[in-house]
Amino acid sequence: MAKKAPGKVRRVAKANKAAKTAKPATRAAAKSAVARSTAKRGKFVYQFGKTTDGNGSMKPLLGGKGANLAEMCRIGLPVPPGFTITTEVCTYYYDHKRSYPPALKAQMQAGIAAIEKQTKKKLGDLKNPLLVSVRSGARDSMPGMMDTILNLGLNDQTVEALAKKTGNPRFAWDCYRRFVQMYGDVVLGVQKRPDEDHEPFETVIETLKHERHHEGIEDTKLSVDDLKELVVRFKALVKERVGKSFPSSPWDQLMGAVGAVFGSWMNDRAIVYRRKYNIPSEWGTAVNVQAMVYGNTGDESGSGVAFTRNPANGTKEFYGEFLINAQGEDVVAGVRTPEPVAELKKQMPKAYGELERIRQRLEKHFKDVQDFEFTIEDGVVYMLQTRNGKRTAMAALKFSIDMFKEKLIDWKTAVMRNPADQLEQLLAPVFDASEAAKAKAIATGLPAGPGAATGRIYLNADRAVTAAEQAQKEADAKGHGSTPEGVLLVRVETSPEDLRGMIAAEGILTARGGVSSHAALVARQMGKVCVCGAAAVEVDYQARKVTVDGQVFNEGDWMSIDGTAGKVYAGRLKTAPSEIVAGLIDGDEAARKTEKFRNFQQLMKWCDQATRMSVRTNADTPEQTQNAIAFGAVGIGLCRTEHMFFEGDRIDAMREMILAETLEDRKAALAKLLPYQREDFAGIFRALKGHPATIRFLDPPLHEFLPNTQESQADLAKKLGVAPAAIHSRVEQLHEFNPMLGFRGCRLGIGYPEISAMQARAVFEAAAIVQKEGVKVKPEIMIPLVGFKKELDLQLEVVHQAAREVQAERKVKLDYLVGTMIEVPRGALTADEIAQSADFFSFGTNDLTQTGLGMSRDDSGSFLPTYTAHEIVKNNPFATIDQTGIGQLVEIAVAKGRATKANLKLGICGEHGGDPASIQFFEKVGLDYVSCSPYRVPVARLAAAQAALRT
Ligand code: ADP
Ligand code: MG
Ligand code: MG
Repeated sequence: MAKKAPGKVRRVAKANKAAKTAKPATRAAAKSAVARSTAKRGKFVYQFGKTTDGNGSMKPLLGGKGANLAEMCRIGLPVPPGFTITTEVCTYYYDHKRSYPPALKAQMQAGIAAIEKQTKKKLGDLKNPLLVSVRSGARDSMPGMMDTILNLGLNDQTVEALAKKTGNPRFAWDCYRRFVQMYGDVVLGVQKRPDEDHEPFETVIETLKHERHHEGIEDTKLSVDDLKELVVRFKALVKERVGKSFPSSPWDQLMGAVGAVFGSWMNDRAIVYRRKYNIPSEWGTAVNVQAMVYGNTGDESGSGVAFTRNPANGTKEFYGEFLINAQGEDVVAGVRTPEPVAELKKQMPKAYGELERIRQRLEKHFKDVQDFEFTIEDGVVYMLQTRNGKRTAMAALKFSIDMFKEKLIDWKTAVMRNPADQLEQLLAPVFDASEAAKAKAIATGLPAGPGAATGRIYLNADRAVTAAEQAQKEADAKGHGSTPEGVLLVRVETSPEDLRGMIAAEGILTARGGVSSHAALVARQMGKVCVCGAAAVEVDYQARKVTVDGQVFNEGDWMSIDGTAGKVYAGRLKTAPSEIVAGLIDGDEAARKTEKFRNFQQLMKWCDQATRMSVRTNADTPEQTQNAIAFGAVGIGLCRTEHMFFEGDRIDAMREMILAETLEDRKAALAKLLPYQREDFAGIFRALKGHPATIRFLDPPLHEFLPNTQESQADLAKKLGVAPAAIHSRVEQLHEFNPMLGFRGCRLGIGYPEISAMQARAVFEAAAIVQKEGVKVKPEIMIPLVGFKKELDLQLEVVHQAAREVQAERKVKLDYLVGTMIEVPRGALTADEIAQSADFFSFGTNDLTQTGLGMSRDDSGSFLPTYTAHEIVKNNPFATIDQTGIGQLVEIAVAKGRATKANLKLGICGEHGGDPASIQFFEKVGLDYVSCSPYRVPVARLAAAQAALRT
């Protein structure tokens, strides 16, 4: 194999830095697993073509690209022959100081020989040379991996042979210069230095064009002589930058390229991507080596990228683009603007017909929308890749419903086809139709990511990130519920370097690039609002401004983009609720007739058929409750009563209660609060229309209700007619060093039983009132923070006493439960005892995570990012439940609780209740329901249905 070129050494250094952050235990485990399996098999190379070793189900071993190339061969699609080097070799490579298993070389040689036999060409041959492409391919397609090397096998001799053989020197030299350029860049690392504005190879091309022609001339117009000169200059550039000659032996070229693919697995971009999508580094990448077919032999050739259906909005239409006389990379690179596939019908009707046939075949076979790459060589179509197409939530929904109607998939598959964590996109606002009609669009582009986004524009990823962080800080300072101002990332076109900025931005706008451009791809994947290829948008990076038809926008100015229609607007456009929200919540009839709404309702209906767990909501007001019920919640899983004490005059009564010195005074203050609570509960019960409501008693430490500035303390003193000093000292008295673990939860109700008594009475009186109105009421009183059975027993007495009184006074029979939250480890560990007294458990996984990990959620911002970087935790444990640790506490409590009481009702009301990955876990441990915020309810319903279908 090739000796290490300096460019590669640099990559190694980079990768080592990254490798240090990998999780040692898992890596060791992966290592031994690989050692075992390779020892058994020892097969590192899988051929495809005339004989095909692999198939589509072997993605872990062959990578997505390799497995599907094999599958396409199996179903008789025209695929150039080749072989796949397995992902196990990648893992081996990193576990063995970047070396290969000894058996690899011979297997690769056999692989090359098989290609040679099928193509009747030979690597390095001076009459009929074989050229190959070297392509990376992880289990899932992954931006950040090495770019494909095309035309490998060319050198000063084979290029002449190719020219002679094809009778097309222009083509041969075009291939050669592309190869030196790509290989020099990707494998040898001849790339833009920090002080350079352009890629060095591009600079060489520009200079030559300038010297010999004019700058605007297209690459396709360069003469054979120009191309020859380019090769000479490219090689000189390589020599100058790398200090070594460009490798001429095809075998050295091949080994160098294979090493670079494996090396790219640990580059920064790949690592960032894996982190975002939770892809373990142990997966590794495969390498595909494949005979070249040529899209650049003339006007009967070309290459393109297509989808079997429209991945932005879901329409059933052949969707994609192609370039005449071009090799694959050109389509994506944005050097020339591709044409829509429909054009191909006119220009190459036969090839178009063949592609149509392939499009049908692909969907019939894979039963899902495919994203495929093809090349046409002298009128003959070749397939180079296929995979399940990335799609927006809107397209996913339409695909799933349409394919069910077409009998391609059954309803369960249709449910699985909708990614639960993307579903919220469908509820995101759209632009207010009347506003949009008034505002004139200043530019149009491709609608690449549906939805509406409005924000301040930034032209660079770093500045977009900073601005988004700043906006978030400002929103946080404003207080709960205020959404941060949006950021729009505006670029000529995006590249993987922009990923962070794209993640931070609300929406993405590009001036160049089509459906297969990087921006469109990322938008589909991340569900970002995106308009791409809006040619009227002129971006000036230097001046940090954007000009559209004479109108200037500086960084920080507002723009709005409509990713559903592909329109760009100046300024801040008003948004309106999505058709689904409008239909469900506002009862908007027009919205209910839209296809989007009807498809959504169908999906939700299927979810109800599939699900075992039910979905409740966390709501404290009748309005929230109503919304959640409209979204399909079947009850309240958590009603936080403390929120009810902040509104209007209530806070005064609350403060009076807290400041009271005697039981009498406290009871007097509580009596003022009672009617408020009763009314709140009655409203909620009515909104619930017979569904159950889990009501949690007062939970936060009392000082949270007290004024903390001198001014506000003085104010309160005046209102209550006491001395300011008295208030001050009571506040001091209530101060705690660690409020999260202090005087809160059931400790309050035990210290001041009259508080619980008031709350219980308010619940039961409200229940009695609403029940008399003819509405069923099912209160479930929940005592927070219980760690000892005795705690619950003390509160039970108070609750039952109030129930007896109210039932007697109002002459009603009330149907209620009393249970507890499980949110401290002791509660989980002694669940068998606690279950003797509890009718139900609800896992408060927020606090259970805090107390179980000994980690304060509100303080974790300062160290969690480091923890994620080191892969100490794979996810934020406050967003996705830590299954091995906290999950175990849940499992213990479930087992012990049900051992005591088989019919114990079990639910979860932490943030995790709306997180699809956590919901999957809750299905596995057998909870009865999950509870989440109202707008998360559809997501949870989908996730719960999918979890049930998976088990
Ligand atoms: P990516 O993973 O970025 O999609 P690919 O490995 O699919 O990269 O390669 C990109 C493009 O290179 C392909 O779409 C195709 O046009 C071209 N290409 C790859 N291999 C070959 C080949 N053997 N013959 C012709 N073109 C190829
Ligand atoms: Mg590809
Ligand atoms: Mg709690």
